[in-house]
Amino acid sequence: MKALATQGAGRIVGRRLLHSPGPTPVPDEVLWAMNRQPMDLGDPRVDSSIQACETGLRRLLQTEAADVFLYASNGHGVWEAVVENLLPLGGAALVPGTGHFSESWAVQTEALGRRVLRTPWVEGLPIDVAAVAQALRQDHQHEIRAVFVVHTDTSSGVSTDLAALRAAIDATGHPALFVVDVVASLGAAPFAMDALRADVVLGASQKGLMCPPGIGFVAVNAAALAMASANPAPRFYWDWVRRKSDLSYRKFCGTAPQSLVAGLAAALGLLFQEGLDQVFERHRQLAQAVHAAVQGWSSAGALDFFARDPAARSVSVTTVLVPSGTDVDALRTVARERFQVAFAGALGPLSGRAFRIGHLGDQNPASMMGCLAGIEAALLVQGIPIGRDGLARASLALSQTPAVAGPELA
Ligand SMILES: *Cc1c(COP(=O)(O)O)cnc(C)c1O
Repeated sequence: MKALATQGAGRIVGRRLLHSPGPTPVPDEVLWAMNRQPMDLGDPRVDSSIQACETGLRRLLQTEAADVFLYASNGHGVWEAVVENLLPLGGAALVPGTGHFSESWAVQTEALGRRVLRTPWVEGLPIDVAAVAQALRQDHQHEIRAVFVVHTDTSSGVSTDLAALRAAIDATGHPALFVVDVVASLGAAPFAMDALRADVVLGASQKGLMCPPGIGFVAVNAAALAMASANPAPRFYWDWVRRKSDLSYRKFCGTAPQSLVAGLAAALGLLFQEGLDQVFERHRQLAQAVHAAVQGWSSAGALDFFARDPAARSVSVTTVLVPSGTDVDALRTVARERFQVAFAGALGPLSGRAFRIGHLGDQNPASMMGCLAGIEAALLVQGIPIGRDGLARASLALSQTPAVAGPELA
């Protein structure tokens, strides 16, 4: 039998569903906002859309006082901004292990001539909070200036309980700054910078914030800005002190990425229009549907959740272990080219051992069920043994969740 062709002569019929955990689909309203001519640098619309991003990010991050600095960059760029502003050359950070992303940040920090202490990562588990506290207690000289925490490790699909981590750090009395990477969780899971007493928070545009890749941002409190001001390490583009200005040309250390800024302002507006509680509840429900499907597929004994503790499973992304010998790239190709569902492979130490389903950003029950159906069909094509009630369990999970109040249901 000839394979169903949904892509003839280079044309994709219908929509290809994008379920990587970043980049994520971009809502039409965001595309429309970006679809504009460049403006001269003195055009007041430039300033007002930058301000809308700063104000909106403060509101989303739940911070009153932090300075927000936006960069024409990706997530790695703002990792670099944090390192260069907070740590002098040779200065140290503690990076708690939580998978590929914490390790990548640690490696980048070392490449920039700083020192890194790590806590061990146990596969499938969140950050070892006790090990973080122990590392701080052993640092009698207070050489560790900051703890670099990845909230949701996008490779492991694991989230760490930040309040518990903050409490454990507090209990040590160590003055290290608390720096949190929310690239994969912001806009999907609740986050409150001030209540958490996070000193620096960093994110990027292309995951829960429903924008194309290209903007990275940090929110910086007074303690972190003071540490940066006193840090003699050479830097220019990433420098927070230099960017603290009312002039948009200074804020961006040059020309602002105007289209992306307009898109981010529109995307933040969409989140507030939906209501943040609804946004977080929607993500929780969609994650439950995905978990239900994976549970169903796993009953045949071949697939399994990577995250061992159900409470630590992320609302943004689910990492699914496959049997050894599985060709994950072939599975993804079948899903993408035949069934129009794009999902992700795994990274670093998990490469070839797992695939990842993104369920963050502009997703709804229909897009998620389409995604799960395409993955299920691809698993069948590839002959990977799966329980046949994955989709049934997912729709049952959706049917059992309370309606998320939207404007028309309220
Ligand atoms: C995606 C991601 C990054 C890196 O972002 P890029 O834009 O790909 O550089 C950093 N941290 C986390 C948690 C991420 O998910």
